[in-house]
Amino acid sequence: MSGHLIQLSYFVAAILFILSLRWLNSPKTARRGVFAGVAGMGAAIVGTLLAPEIVDYRWIGLGLVVGTLAGIPLSRVALTAVPQRTALSHAFGGMAAGLVGTAKYIIWLQHGELTTFRVSAIALEVILGFLTFTGSLMAAGKLQEIIPTRPITYRNQNLVNLLLLAAAVAAGGYLAFVDHNYWPAYAALVALSLVFGVLLIMPIGGADMPTVISLLNSYAGLSAVAMGFVLDNNLLIIAGALDGSSGFILSVIMCKAMNRSFTNVLFGAFGQVQAAAAAGEAKAVKSATSQDVADILTHADSVVIIPGYGMAVAQAQHRVHELYDQLTRRGVAVKFAIHPVAGRMPGHMNVLLAEAEIPYEALVEMDDINPEMPQTDVCLVVGANDVVNPAARHDKGSPIFGMPIVDADKARTIIAIKRSMNPGFAGIENELYYDDKTLMAFGDAKQVLGDVVKAVSGDASH
Ligand code: NAP
Repeated sequence: MSGHLIQLSYFVAAILFILSLRWLNSPKTARRGVFAGVAGMGAAIVGTLLAPEIVDYRWIGLGLVVGTLAGIPLSRVALTAVPQRTALSHAFGGMAAGLVGTAKYIIWLQHGELTTFRVSAIALEVILGFLTFTGSLMAAGKLQEIIPTRPITYRNQNLVNLLLLAAAVAAGGYLAFVDHNYWPAYAALVALSLVFGVLLIMPIGGADMPTVISLLNSYAGLSAVAMGFVLDNNLLIIAGALDGSSGFILSVIMCKAMNRSFTNVLFGAFGQVQAAAAAGEAKAVKSATSQDVADILTHADSVVIIPGYGMAVAQAQHRVHELYDQLTRRGVAVKFAIHPVAGRMPGHMNVLLAEAEIPYEALVEMDDINPEMPQTDVCLVVGANDVVNPAARHDKGSPIFGMPIVDADKARTIIAIKRSMNPGFAGIENELYYDDKTLMAFGDAKQVLGDVVKAVSGDASH
């Protein structure tokens, strides 16, 4: 009886996971998607707990307590720190897969139940699990800047890494096909996978970490698939496959949005500290007060707001909404240009603007808004930098050359809100700020926008 119930709950969980991914595709249904994912995981846990012959409730209880204690502080990190938080979750997932594989190996070894298929699945699970574990810890450390973010490289690095991986696979192959019981080969498999995870991430710069994290997500999914084969659990195979493929697709999307190739991210040592730009003549920029900004905006017919990482840092999204309300009330057509890698994680801007309850219809993807830019009266850049840097279009020597950008420079007037002339993520100067059509409104985005909103509403009451 409980066997049927378990299979039924796994079936329900699998459907909910698929629906969850489907619904997460659009901000309109994303909330439902999150609930479906949580409900699916709930069904999977309840289903598993229904099998008392394989579950020891004391260990489950202990796991729940430890997981909750670790999870509560992790759930409270700022949105800007979510990439490293996600990396930590992948590290735990990878470690769990590696440990489960090891436990199964020991149990089956003691009972003489190891087969070639079982050992092959365990070897795959353990390699992927442990390399995800140390690789994700490295990625989290680089993003949190606990370890140096610059790529650490040496001669023949890729060759060394490939040889290390080959040695781990050889150890797994020996165990699977020659001698299941040779535990030193198992120890070598574990050690090599752990070291490989560290060496794999070491040459990758901080700039590529979010893409790498998404790729590690994919590896964690694949190790869950292998774990599904080890434990003969269909749900793990389904969930792992969904995880593995969605992580891979996301990495590809991010690479495209940054104009990077996959191999370049993994082997290219991008993000190397660039030679500081020649300390050249200080070029002049035009600055504007909040009152100037308010005047320009209220006299425009069309305004495109381009949010970036600075809006997230300043938590200025609610001020942005107030400005949006004020301007639309006055008949100004206001749209938001959404760059796929604005901020520090995919969907960062969508999440913030949705949190501030800005109507979803006002958000326009980069490719759709760009043709409208030449007819746009004012483009308001709120803490965005790299994603509006025209060098990406024409400067072959620039590290962001080829990255698609929002064509802010094509608008009739550009207003950029940021605190200083400091560069953004890529560490390079932005010629947009020196453009004749550009006005700089210096200051914290929340503060400046608050003043602009006051000035706009003050004008309205005259
Ligand atoms: P950005 O190029 O990092 O620039 C952000 C700007 O915000 C900075 O120039 C900074 O200038 C300003 N700023 C910081 N705090 C501020 C505050 N409190 N108030 C006002 N301005 C503030 O950001 P972006 O244009 O959004 O570009 C994202 C970058 O991240 C791209 O290079 C992208 O490739 C990279 N990236 C993104 C993802 C992703 O998934 N989204 C993943 C990997 C990499 P000041 O210091 O002068 O204020």
